[in-house]
Formats: sequence, C-alpha cells, structure tokens
Amino acid sequence: MSNTTMDIVSVLKDYLRFPGISADPNAKQWILDSASYLAGLLEKAGAKPEIVPTAGNPVVVGRYNADRNDLPHIVIYGHYDVQPVDPLDLWKTPPFVPTEVDGKLYARGAADNRGPHAVSVVAFANLLARRPDLPLRVTFVFEGEEEIGSGSFPQFLRDHQAELSTGDFVLLSDTESPAADKIAITIGLRGIVGLELNLEGPNSDLHSGIHGGAVYNPLQALAEICASLHNPDGSVNVPGFYDGMLAPADWEREELKRLPTTEESYKQFLGVDALHSLPGYNGIEATRFAPTLEFNGMGGGYLGSGSKTIVPAKAFVKITCRLVPGMDPKATFEKVSSAIMARVPAGIRASITPMQGCPPYYVCPPNRPNTPADMNPTLAKAFDAAHTIISEQFGNPPIYTRDGGSIGIIEAFRQICGMNALMIGFFLPDSFIHAPNENVDIALLQKGVKTYEAILEQIAAK
Ligand SMILES: [Zn+2]
Repeated sequence: MSNTTMDIVSVLKDYLRFPGISADPNAKQWILDSASYLAGLLEKAGAKPEIVPTAGNPVVVGRYNADRNDLPHIVIYGHYDVQPVDPLDLWKTPPFVPTEVDGKLYARGAADNRGPHAVSVVAFANLLARRPDLPLRVTFVFEGEEEIGSGSFPQFLRDHQAELSTGDFVLLSDTESPAADKIAITIGLRGIVGLELNLEGPNSDLHSGIHGGAVYNPLQALAEICASLHNPDGSVNVPGFYDGMLAPADWEREELKRLPTTEESYKQFLGVDALHSLPGYNGIEATRFAPTLEFNGMGGGYLGSGSKTIVPAKAFVKITCRLVPGMDPKATFEKVSSAIMARVPAGIRASITPMQGCPPYYVCPPNRPNTPADMNPTLAKAFDAAHTIISEQFGNPPIYTRDGGSIGIIEAFRQICGMNALMIGFFLPDSFIHAPNENVDIALLQKGVKTYEAILEQIAAK
C-alpha cells in the first residue's frame, strides 16, 4: 500500500531517458531497463509489479486488489516501447533528453505512448494517496512490442485469459485528439488486410522489336487488373466487398461536424484540388466510416534513366484494404484475391502473397439509439464519467469518433478477454509521433491525470 503522490512531468523526465526502441536489435538492454523502470513506477504508485517474459519483449503487469473478484475491474493498457529516432539531425533537442519548451515536453515516446500511459499510473498513485482503501481492482498491462506489431501480445492475453476476462473494460490512451481543448474518444477503428500480387509473362525481359506483339505484357496486365478494381464512381469493384459493413449511425455523422477540419481545410492540408471518396460519404466521413482498396506501390520493367526497349518479364503491385466494422480480414482477402485471379489474362502467371492484417473494431457509447442492451454497466459508467470530467477539464465535451487507422490489439482484447475499450486521445496532430521532435502538451497531460483519477474514482465500488 502506498501514499506517494506523483507529478507527471517529473515522472516523464526520468522515464523518457530510456531508449526502448523495439525495432532496434541492439536496444534489447534498453527495452529491459525501460520495463524495470516501469515496474518500479507501478510499485511506487501502489500496484504489485510483475515483469512477464514473452517470446519477444516482456509485458509489465501491475496489480491492485488482484484477489478481489467482487470489485469492478479495470484493465489499463499501454506500450513502453518506442519508434526509432532517425533522421537524428532533424531533432531540435536530443530524443532521449526530455526537454521542456513552451508548454511541451519533447522526447521520443513523449506522446506515443509513454506520456499517455504514465498519466494512468500517476492518476492511480494520486487517487490511492487520497483514498488508500480504494474499492476497485486495477490491472495494468504495458507491452513492449506495439511499434513492431504486438507479435507476442495475443499469446500473453491467451496465457492470462482467466485473469483478464474478469475485467470490465480496457482503458487506454494511444489515439489522437484534434486539439488540446477538443478531446476525442475513439469508438471505432478500421481493420486492415493486404496482399502482394506478382505477375510473370515470358521467362526473361524481351527485345520489344524482335518479340513485341507476340506476348501479353505483364505491366499491361497489371495496369488492367488494377484499373478494374474500382468503378468510375470510386467504389471498389470486387464482388461482395461491402457486404456486412456497419453504416454510421446518424449521431456519428453529426458528431464529426464538431471536428475543426472542414472539407475545404482538409483539401488545403492535403494539397489536392478535389477529394475523391466513396459515394454517400464526404472526404472526412470516408476516412472513418468507409472501407478502401489502395495501391501502395507497383513496379516492373525498366526504371532507370533514358529508355530501354523491352517487354518486361515481371510486374508487381502491393495492395492494402482498410476495413470497417462488420468486415472480416480473411473474407476480404479471399474476395479480393479471387476477383484478381479471375481477371488474369492467358499468357500471364499470377501469384498472391498475403500480408498480415487485423480486424476492425467498434464500441457504441451508452445512451445512443444503437447502444447494445448488454453493454457492460461499468464501462457505461466509465463513458459517462469520462464525458463529465473531460467537459469540465477541457471546456468542451469529448468528440466521439471512429479512427481511420488500425490497432489490432483492441479487437484482440475483445475476442480473447471479452472486454470493450474506452480510448481517450492524448496526443495531437502536431505531436509528431513516429517523427523527429515528438512532443506532448504538458497541460493536456496534467488534465489527463485529473480525468483518469475521476474515472477510476467514479467507478470504484461505493
Ligand atoms: Zn506508435
């Protein structure tokens, strides 16, 4: 039991000094040191720490009231690993020397995700200092592989399924808010599935004079197949592609109008003179509510300077689809692959390699026309508490939106442990996550501490 209060800025000035870069095989010791530091912080806050080894980097667990099955049980998620720092010369301050400038704290990991999950630990410590017998069960799970795809985390969830499935919901902050006074609660995420298509024609590049005209050019076949995958109106031309997709509720479209972004400002930001979105969705809606099929890269033939008169032997394209709730990565992969294979002309051999994907996610807040009758009551209470406290702390009620990006572990928590998530965004569009000069807004984190404290306190048993 502890009664230590903590200050988020002092904590981060220590924590952000550990270069725990999961993508760097030479940073293994830093990963372990980051995990030890975090375990120490949890202990100081009043939770019982454990560093759980996995096939990859360890998961840091902190337990409070672990033997109390009668209490509401919150699972708090975060990741202590960070992205690489290069290009180093573009940093204005050293990435692992946390530096305060104009109300922001600069360091790798400040926003993604050490600042936001340290908020949860500090809030817990401060609440416990005030209420040492807090009638609440809390389990912190902080992984060290999020930036490299969370490879070991689903197995960790399966290994701890009995313990974690007693949780009422997962609380996390690893999403973006549009502005420091406009906090987003993310209620949906797109899934993703991808493939690489390789086409082969003749057994080598051919002289386009001697052999040109006799064979199907693989680049031409590639262009024709790719062009066939969308209709002129922008919709995806794959049979059954949109089957089962969950359309946004009317209130979700209304909610989006509260974002500071307009179609005009979005066009300017992107540097395009027109947006191109699925019929029925404006550009801002499409990134959140509609699935896509995108070409990420394609190639083949001669790419050097000047000309080289050949019929190439090979061509390739990399494709990914973003999926909305109601769509399944495996089923979408099958539909897109069969559509492609059916369109390969005679004289061309095609092979498709799948790329790793993850499912989409959706949770409906309480008191909406589409709120499920069996919504977990503790989660409903947490949504209500978050709404009230965010309105007070930040001067505006939260904006409930779906995000266009994908976080695979959220759906893994739901599928393996039966928990939905409350996701509160603590980084901003100019936090430069994954980029040089990553930073976090200090006042936002301080209000974040108050927000977490209030949520934990309000869902504690009476
Ligand atoms: Zn990240």
